[in-house]
Parts: sequence; C-alpha cells; structure tokens
Amino acid sequence: MDPEVISRLQSSLDFLADDEAGRAQFSTQFYNTLFSRHPLYRSMFPAAMDTQGRRFFTAVAYVIENLAQHRRMRKFLTQLGRDHRRYGVEREHYEAAGTALRHAVRSMYGTGTHSRNSWTPELADAWSEFADFLVGTLADGAESDTSPAVWGGTVVSHERILKDLAIVRLETDEPIPYGAGQYVGVQIPQRPKMWRYFSPAIPTNPFGQLEFHVRKVSGGWVSPAIVGETNVGDRWVISTPLGGLEVDYTNDRDVLMIGSGSGIAPLRAQVMEMSQRSDNPRVHLFVSGRYPCDLYDLETLWHVSLSNPWLTVVPVSEESENPWWHTGPPLEAPFGMHSRLTGPIGKVVAQFGSWADRQVQISGSPSMVKTTVYALRAGGTPLDQIQHDPLG
Ligand SMILES: Cc1cc2nc3c(=O)[nH]c(=O)nc-3n(C[C@H](O)[C@H](O)[C@H](O)COP(=O)(O)OP(=O)(O)OC[C@H]3O[C@@H](n4cnc5c(N)ncnc54)[C@H](O)[C@@H]3O)c2cc1C
Repeated sequence: MDPEVISRLQSSLDFLADDEAGRAQFSTQFYNTLFSRHPLYRSMFPAAMDTQGRRFFTAVAYVIENLAQHRRMRKFLTQLGRDHRRYGVEREHYEAAGTALRHAVRSMYGTGTHSRNSWTPELADAWSEFADFLVGTLADGAESDTSPAVWGGTVVSHERILKDLAIVRLETDEPIPYGAGQYVGVQIPQRPKMWRYFSPAIPTNPFGQLEFHVRKVSGGWVSPAIVGETNVGDRWVISTPLGGLEVDYTNDRDVLMIGSGSGIAPLRAQVMEMSQRSDNPRVHLFVSGRYPCDLYDLETLWHVSLSNPWLTVVPVSEESENPWWHTGPPLEAPFGMHSRLTGPIGKVVAQFGSWADRQVQISGSPSMVKTTVYALRAGGTPLDQIQHDPLG
C-alpha cells in the first residue's frame, strides 16, 4: 500500500480513536449498519456486544498501525480468516463487513464534536482500499485452508503453580500443526461460546501434547474458570493456529526476547524448539514478574540455557522481595546464570543499550507490551524490528 495512503489512514485512525467514546461509537456504527442490512448475521455474535466492539476496533487499529509491514499484516489477516471459520464466516459475510466498515468511518466525520475533521475523496479512497485489502485477505485466508477449523483435546493435568496461575496440559485427538510462538483459540466446557486466545508453551509434537500457562485476570470470564475450575478429563475445543512471533533465520541479527508472567509461553516454546536445532543466533531472554516468586518457570529456562550456550536468561522482578504471604524458599541461580535484576521490565531492558542490532519479541499483558515497546523505542530500537502479538 502506498505510504501516503497509509499515513492518511493512520491520521484518520488517530481521529477516530481520539477517546474511548469515539472508539465505542465507531464500533457501534459498524455493527448497527451490518445488522440493519443483514439481520440474520446478529446470531453469529454474542449477546453482549461491548467486548466484541472493543475487539473489532483493536483489530482494525492493529492492522492500520502495522500496514507498513504489509507482508506481516497479510499473513495476520490470512490466519484470522482461517481462524474465523470456527464461526462459519464466509466471503459474503466479509464483503458485507467491508461495506459496513466504509459506512461506519464515513458516518464519524462531520458530525458532533468531530466536525473539525473533514471527509475528502482521498480519505474515502484510502478507506476503500483498506476495506478491500482487509476483507479480501480474510476471505482468501478462509478459503485457502482445507485443514479442520477446530480440534478437540482432553485435559490430562492441571497444576496450580501460583495463586493466580495454572499450567494445563492436554492431549489433542490429532496433533495440531502450530509453529512455536503461535497462539490458538480455546473454548472450555465451563464457558461455552467464549473463545479466548492462549499460546502453547511447548512446540508441537506427534503425540498431540499441548501445554498452556494461564494467568487469572481478575473479573474475567474465562481465565478464572481455567485456573480455578478445570478438571482432568475436561474436553477443550482448539482452533486454527495464529500469530507470527518467530525468529528470522534469514537475517544475521541476534535475538532479544522479553516475556512477562504467562506471556513467557510463546517465547519458551520457541526456545525449546531452537534447542533442537544445531545452529542458532544468540538469544537474550528477559523473564519478568512482579515478585521474585512470580518467575515460576525460571528453573526450566535455566536448564535449557545450561545446555545451550546461545541462550542467556535474565530474570527481572519489579519488587526486590517476595510478598509476606509467600512461604517458599528463594530460588538460587545456578553457577554461571545471570542474577535477578529489579525494576520495571521495559526500563531494565532499555538500560542495557539500544538493542538496535536485534530482532525483538515482546510478550505479556497489553500494558506491559505497550510500556516495553515505548522504552525500547526511546532507547533507539527501530519499531520495525519489534514483534508482538495483537493486544487483546
Ligand atoms: C495473542 C494472545 C495470546 C494470549 N496468550 C495467553 C496465554 O498464553 N496465557 C494467558 O494467561 N493469557 C493469554 N492471553 C490472554 C487471554 O486470551 C485472555 O484475554 C485472558 O485470559 C482474559 O480472559 P478472561 O475471559 O478471563 O477476561 P475477559 O472476560 O475477556 O476480560 C475481563 C477484563 O479483563 C481485561 N483483560 C483481559 N485480558 C487481560 C490481560 N491479559 N491483562 C489485563 N487485563 C486483561 C479486559 O479488558 C476486561 O476488562 C492471550 C491473549 C492474546 C490476544
């Protein structure tokens, strides 16, 4: 896409995303148009549309913000189209969505508090080109995939590692062909129709073994049920793998990985897969948590590092001491391993220098990713060298 068109779309998005109310209005306009023209489509969506509306805006914003990385966005949309097969979405639905998107954007201009912004033919063309790219790539993605839209899996182990974090292991009926670093949609029996994304923490294998690290988000629907109510024998439904976190072996840059909390999962899966290769770039893996005891997976990562000299693991905690209610013994770093650093993860990593010569991956909560990207950019890391999954 032409850089001028991209910059026009990005300014337009800044205007649309001016505040929470603007974002909500945009999503409402989109869905109102879609459902008024196609009333039957309403049944494909959940009863409460607020979360759906936020997700819709986040996805549109994510693609526009990253349009300069055209190939990556095409791959993301292709995967999303494949993933949406689980809802029964087809080309005609996408085309209707493209029309509703154009209408929603147009209706945001020249009305109410936003009247200072004007709608121009160039802007109309830019949004049309974007809508065509968006829905065309989604529909092509859905049609290009002949593999199953969903897989079934049985929970074989559920370990409550921390008060708010569980490791869940499953065996799927067939092995799922995901790449280390990708994520999948998950539906659990305790919360039917509430799909959430989780990143497998181990590489795919011929036995269909899967491992998820799930942190309980307080007030959330699904994660508290996974952490608190999952039983061995539960049947989970898992959808098409998505996401593009991966090491690029075609360039000679070393790798910087930064993971926080359960966000370590996609990085851990990649490091484990890399340990089966003979030739790897150097990898610096920063693992962070609020308290030292939150670094629940450090021992495994130290083990991988001890037998793989290309991997350096750097533990970081925001607080220097464990909370008073934690009773376990402190973790001692094995000889030769990096000792724990203290501070906000973004700030700690940026203190080491610009990292401008690295390919960078960041994984964690949306706020952790945003602040870490900000800290790295302020320190001189170019944005196009930083990868992360869509936020939320
Ligand atoms: C690409 C991707 C991969 C993911 N991988 C993992 C993973 O491996 N392990 C894991 O534990 N989670 C992962 N998540 C997060 C997960 O998909 C859910 O969003 C999370 O478990 C909360 O779901 P919920 O139903 O409990 O909360 P919801 O009912 O969806 O949300 C309740 C409230 O919590 C807020 N919220 C949602 N998620 C977060 C968050 N992460 N941090 C802070 N506030 C939040 C929402 O904005 C909302 O206000 C991933 C998310 C994405 C987008």
